[in-house]
Amino acid sequence: MKLDVDVLRYLSKDDFRVLTAVEMGMRNHEVVPSELIDRIACLKHGGTYKVLKNLLKHKLLHHDSSKYDGFRLTYLGYDFLAIKTMVNRGIFTGVGRQIGVGKESDIFEVVKEDGTVLAMKLHRLGRVSFRAVKSKRDYLRHRSSYNWLYLSRLAALKEFAFMKALEEHGFPVPNAVDCNRHCVVMSLVRGYPLVQVKQLQNPGTAFETILGLVVRMAEHGLIHCDFNEFNIMIDDDEKITMIDFPQMVSVSHRNAKMYFDRDVECIFKFFKKRFNLSFEENEDESDDSEIDSDEVCWPRFSEIKKVSGFLDKELAASGFTGKDQEDFERNNNLYLQEGDNTPEHEHGQIEHGVVEEDRLEDNPEEESSQAGCEHDSEAEQVENPELTKRLSKQRQRAIQAARGRKKSSTSRTMYSDKGGRSSYKSKIQKQMSSW
Ligand code: ADP
Ligand code: MG
Repeated sequence: MKLDVDVLRYLSKDDFRVLTAVEMGMRNHEVVPSELIDRIACLKHGGTYKVLKNLLKHKLLHHDSSKYDGFRLTYLGYDFLAIKTMVNRGIFTGVGRQIGVGKESDIFEVVKEDGTVLAMKLHRLGRVSFRAVKSKRDYLRHRSSYNWLYLSRLAALKEFAFMKALEEHGFPVPNAVDCNRHCVVMSLVRGYPLVQVKQLQNPGTAFETILGLVVRMAEHGLIHCDFNEFNIMIDDDEKITMIDFPQMVSVSHRNAKMYFDRDVECIFKFFKKRFNLSFEENEDESDDSEIDSDEVCWPRFSEIKKVSGFLDKELAASGFTGKDQEDFERNNNLYLQEGDNTPEHEHGQIEHGVVEEDRLEDNPEEESSQAGCEHDSEAEQVENPELTKRLSKQRQRAIQAARGRKKSSTSRTMYSDKGGRSSYKSKIQKQMSSW
């Protein structure tokens, strides 16, 4: 999906108001009924319906009429809300080129008023292989209030909290600047992912530094869980920076040893293959086995002196609560259980900024039930004369209702809201006054 930030410039205050109304409505609707959007946005003269058409045209919303006429945010719509908030907060003033595409994220350069360039990571949960999506959906089906946007927001919040905590403990990570919705802003790492590096001056030193980080993190009570050549950056001076933290777990996690060993194994394997470092790998699962080479010792999970409490205290300080952790881990475990910290290129991952969009198209009828999953037909939706007519009609009806000539009536495809939502509405309006 392309992030065309030029569109941002042409969006009006009303556009953002309606976009925010859809976001608010998604707290308890997978698809937000147009009438509810109209009531939340509270625009004069049926303006909501006109705006909806515009937002649809720019693919910021997806229209769904399977149960009733309604809308949900697309990732692009969610991106715009997050970017707008960051700009309002003065975090950056412009979005530049895309510098990375991860398994489930897009990374862009952003620029501050003083010219400093930062990195912005937009989490995009749901953009993974069909197998993983399917198993996540099996879980999600039991929790209807979940959607990909919510999970992406949790991923961002978790990543931000871990990055901040690691930074405070002197780990080489990017500086965590700010977080909003599914978006994390951090300092730009001037280096390359290790996977792109063919030669090193001191591969042995780099190897020891990297392995030392895995051990030191465990001593602090943490396991990265995706510690491989795609998530380790190295600069021209061979300085190491770790990135990508949403999947981290505590050393007290029931599979902690397995994740720890897997991270360690990734490093051993990569350095052996890429830089011909010689050491014997510890193939034996048992902690009692006699290992390995004279030069390098395979770190043992059981021998690491772990400090607990790191997660609870410091992460809570960043707003990432125990409940968030629980929610996120339950979802995240589905990846981990699939034995899935396979290096990312095996997922159809990009090395040069091209993402392979296998995925959701594999099962279109499931796709439509999940918020945030992009749909190719969004352009067609804008052209849909039937929908355009309906939106115009709803607009007319709203205008008439506002003038008090006619009571607003509901058509067959309309959603009828049974409960009063006045406090909900006033909360929303408070937030909207900031636009
Ligand atoms: P994912 O969680 O989707 O794997 P990552 O955080 O690993 O995403 O980022 C994907 C790619 O984006 C990285 O391999 C790297 O090339 C680039 N990248 C991520 N964060 C930064 C950063 N702070 N500075 C520079 N490049 C980055
Ligand atoms: Mg990554």
